[in-house]
Amino acid sequence: MANDIAEQQKLIELNKQLIEKFLTYMNNKTPDAEKIKATPICQLKMTVKNIVDILKDKPNLKKVADKHKIKKIINTMTGIFDNTNQEDIDFKKYKEEMEKFQEEQKKESEANKRKKEESTANAKSYNSVKKIKKNYMSLEDGAIPNHWLKVTDNELMEPVLFVEAGEEMTPLEIKNLIELNRIEFKITSEITKLKANDDKVIVRFSDAKQRDFFKKEIKKINKKIEAYVPEPFEPMIRLHNLPKELDVNTFIEDIKKYNNFNKKDKIEHHSTTSSRNPNKSDYILRVTPAIRDEVARRRGLLLYRCSKVNVTDYFNIIQCTRCFKYSHTKFFCGSQSKCKYCSQYHLSHTCESKDKPQNYKCPACDQPGHKAGHKDCPKLQKQLKYATTLVNYHYSYIIM
Ligand SMILES: [Zn+2]
Ligand SMILES: [Zn+2]
Ligand SMILES: [Zn+2]
Repeated sequence: MANDIAEQQKLIELNKQLIEKFLTYMNNKTPDAEKIKATPICQLKMTVKNIVDILKDKPNLKKVADKHKIKKIINTMTGIFDNTNQEDIDFKKYKEEMEKFQEEQKKESEANKRKKEESTANAKSYNSVKKIKKNYMSLEDGAIPNHWLKVTDNELMEPVLFVEAGEEMTPLEIKNLIELNRIEFKITSEITKLKANDDKVIVRFSDAKQRDFFKKEIKKINKKIEAYVPEPFEPMIRLHNLPKELDVNTFIEDIKKYNNFNKKDKIEHHSTTSSRNPNKSDYILRVTPAIRDEVARRRGLLLYRCSKVNVTDYFNIIQCTRCFKYSHTKFFCGSQSKCKYCSQYHLSHTCESKDKPQNYKCPACDQPGHKAGHKDCPKLQKQLKYATTLVNYHYSYIIM
């Protein structure tokens, strides 16, 4: 397994290099005709073939090129086809394959656009769902376990927009445009945070009114820029220490039956993952807000075939198992292995401070007093805070 991943990683790197080499046939935004004509035909064919193979490898394409790079690749290919013998059988074949790829991409982006429009339409109902839930939540029924993380309203309700412009502009260009217009007072909505990542810009606002105002302002500046409310996800829960390899459909039926949930309540299997106990598995489920409420009311316990199961909230947070920092995995880690208890450079299971919390020092935030992944870690809290804003649920506590 580890070897497979290493191989995969190598291939990704190789493909990235191939693409970079290929893009040298471009002169800024236009194909470099001189350079294309100067390259031997057989070499040119081989290069084009490699690139076509990369484009056809849909599952891995995202890992080697974002959509801006793909646009550049297409321009380069077109330049090569225009500057070589148009009757050549090989080039003709590659051209056809490229056009097929473009056609598929177009369909895909249209489908995505439709989805975005639907999610924007859903945004209103999603906010009201949160309000209703808040009123009848009965968390005050008994003591809240003190390892749960309390979250306050304002922190979590920070409204957000995703902003992109298809292939017209890169996220960085959009971000710069927004900043420039703020300086010139053409954008006056209260932005609390502005961040560009690989495929979009994330804009946060002080309240929903500011968010809606921004949507109008940005449309005036550039019609091609799209600002939309991210699609909210249903909450996820993690059921701990269950038998391995359960049939998920039967498992979900059992959970409904033994906990008196309605048969029609939506529960979906998200993933199965390793447990603390190596002979067991954890099951991650996507559930309705009502079921999440019920788990909180039962203080993080559900029944499975008459035995109690520990349940915690689950978010898709990426934490490195090598250095314990967030937002990257060990395969992309540029740091040395650290101990999750004391931050020193040894393996966690050999740590002498394992059972001495007074010696703990967290490698994620470099602060003493807790180990990596503990609810007191400010870095973890920041990750959780962001993750909860993407969920269709009003969290008062995070079940840890
Ligand atoms: Zn790392
Ligand atoms: Zn240690
Ligand atoms: Zn920490």
